Amino acid sequence: MSSETLYDTIIIGAGPAGLSAGLYAARGNLKTLIIEKGIVGGQLQVTHEIENYPGMDHMTGPQISDAMEEQTRRFDCDIVTNDPVQSIDLESQPKVVKTEKNEFKAKTIIIASGSEHNQLGVPGEKENWGKGVSYCAVCDGAFFKDREVVVVGGGSSACEEGNFLTKFAKKVTLVHRRDQLRAERILQERFKANPKTDIKWDSVVTKINGGVLGVESVTIKNLKTGEEYDYPTEGVFIYVGLSPNIGFLNGKIDLDESGKIKSSIRMETNIHGVYVAGDVRDTVLKQAVTAASDGSLAATMAIGYVEALEDKNLASV
Ligand code: NAP
Repeated sequence: MSSETLYDTIIIGAGPAGLSAGLYAARGNLKTLIIEKGIVGGQLQVTHEIENYPGMDHMTGPQISDAMEEQTRRFDCDIVTNDPVQSIDLESQPKVVKTEKNEFKAKTIIIASGSEHNQLGVPGEKENWGKGVSYCAVCDGAFFKDREVVVVGGGSSACEEGNFLTKFAKKVTLVHRRDQLRAERILQERFKANPKTDIKWDSVVTKINGGVLGVESVTIKNLKTGEEYDYPTEGVFIYVGLSPNIGFLNGKIDLDESGKIKSSIRMETNIHGVYVAGDVRDTVLKQAVTAASDGSLAATMAIGYVEALEDKNLASV
């Protein structure tokens, strides 16, 4: 792998969308590079169990990620990790991707940069990050053996990861701002049926209170009664949604009103030769399986684009 190489396609992001795009592109004979800002796997790395990826039952997120990576590498797909993309020149041909450590060139780009957890934005959150505040139950859950923890949010992540936390914690209290959960029904029911869980409805965490050793309590406000009180806890797991990773695009690609990349049903963006896949695009279903499907389609489109470029070059000789 070298910055002198002209890649047929560069894929930004090595989550399920990026790995699937890498597999299809490399297997389709494109010289392919995946650039990942952190480690391979994306959201799979922070998901305990994936039970709705067909054929991969009883596998953890990291296990599925490892299997996808191994399969993709088998077709000689290059993968660079821990090298965040800083900017891209999408209008030039070839297109230029500048990362923290390198510069790479490619005929086509597939953006599969995924999304990142939102912060709650309350006092004490930043100060206590790593000292009781966490966004990853898989990474930090084991630190809370026989302790009480709070989970903030009412979506599928909050319920699924809250349930996972009951493997360690003696009690998991979910704090949700409404009187109804947003999570997928099966995950809601599982969470509610777990004897170690409790839900504080119509409530928000307004402050995270820490001492020398870390989090000691959260301040909870009931939005219906206005009552505000301190609730003792040693851990706060925050799952209040995800935002697309698009910072490096610098406004060069059309986005929808929620900040996700607009795409056609063929994963095309508004720029010729630039495709998108997974959670970073305007998709209604954010799952590993839909991300993988997007990636395969984006790569197939990229293969068509590269073949058309080659045909054009041959015709002009
Ligand atoms: P989400 O579906 O966007 O849910 C975010 C939750 O946080 C909502 O309940 C929201 O409340 C709450 N919230 C947002 N901002 C808040 C704030 N400032 N203060 C307090 N609460 C706040 O996010 P997610 O649960 O991370 O899921 C993201 C996507 O991944 C979804 O499409 C989901 O279906 C998918 N997912 C799927 C699975 C699975 O299939 N097993 C597992 C995890 C995630 P409101 O409800 O009031 O808006």
